[in-house]
Parts: sequence; structure tokens; C-alpha cells
Amino acid sequence: MSWSKNLVKEIVNSKKHIICTELAVVIADKFPKARHHYLVLPLADIPSIFELNRSHLPLLEELFLLAHNVVEVKGARWEDFKVGFHAEPSMQRVHLHVISKDFDSPSLKTKKHWNSFNTDLFVPFEKLFAQVEKDNCFNRLPKSLKDELLAKPLLCNQCRFTSTNLPTLKEHLAEHYREKKARN
Ligand code: AMP
Ligand code: ZN
Repeated sequence: MSWSKNLVKEIVNSKKHIICTELAVVIADKFPKARHHYLVLPLADIPSIFELNRSHLPLLEELFLLAHNVVEVKGARWEDFKVGFHAEPSMQRVHLHVISKDFDSPSLKTKKHWNSFNTDLFVPFEKLFAQVEKDNCFNRLPKSLKDELLAKPLLCNQCRFTSTNLPTLKEHLAEHYREKKARN
């Protein structure tokens, strides 16, 4: 089986389920890009967001409910999370990312990782839902736009800092995390 189908393998392993319903499961992302990073996946064999249509809207609502549930189960705060889909997913089976905004993680290793969550390469749940509701589908970004977004400068998601390289941005993000923890 190709690596792009690894998420499908995880779904059938009930030991990996943080939450499981008749329609979907929540698992931990194996390479978390933040302190909290979960994936919500339907049991139905839907390879990607590009196969979604209006008939899937109730299922999408269930995925969003499970996103709320996992944040609650983990004792975290909803406002500290981003919840959405990658515009250009690499793994099969539609998956909703539920990721904390700290992005303080050793697995955040590349500019692509950062920009895939912090530019329009990340599609918030509500945006995708509204588009599927309106158009009955969700389309790929043109390659030129994808390349442009990948090449965007490394902007902090919590202040106006711009970094020339990822290690510096990561140190900066770790400092935001420490400050936030000290405040709470
Ligand atoms: P995407 O770019 O939206 O396709 O994201 C795929 C996500 O799956 C990434 O965040 C990976 O870290 C994560 N991932 C890859 N393999 C596994 C696995 N075996 N179990 C859980 N998460 C995985
Ligand atoms: Zn900052």
C-alpha cells in the first residue's frame, strides 16, 4: 500500500482512536506540527476534499462536532485552535486538521509545513463547508497560486514578526508559547 494511504490504515486500528462514532474517528497526527494536532476522518471511503458534494454536508457537520469534542476531551480551549483542511492534501481519506495555534513542535520542520497551515493553503472548515454548499464541489487551487502561497515569507501568526528562516521563526514561536503559559 502506498504511504499516501497510511491514514486509512490508522482508521482500522481502534487503539489509535481518541474518539469514534458510527460515522467518523479522531486520531492523533503522527507528526504533530503543534502542541495539539488531531485528525478527524470519516469512515466512508472519500479519498479527498475534491470528491465532496452537497450530500456530504451532514457528514462534514459531524466532523466539525468531533473537532469540538476532541478539544474538550483534551481540556484545551477552542479559540486556541485552527480547524480546517489542506487545499492540497498529500494523504488519502478526507481529514480535518484540528491544530493548536502555538505551532511549537519538533515535527514542524519546513517552510512548507508552516505555509501549509498559515496561508490560504489552509482552508478553514467554514470556508470549505460554504463552498461545497454553494458549488456542490471543492476545486483544486491553480498550480501558480499554490506555488505563490508556498513561497510566501514566514510571518508569525501571533504578531507582526517576519522571519528569514524557519529556525528563527520556531524560536520566536516557542517564546510566544512560554509567555502565554506564564500568563495562564
Ligand atoms: P495533509 O497534508 O493534509 O494530507 O496531511 C496529512 C497529515 O497526516 C500530516 O499532518 C501528517 O503528519 C499526518 N500523518 C502522516 N502519516 C500519519 C499516520 N500514519 N498517522 C497519523 N497521522 C499521519
Ligand atoms: Zn510573533
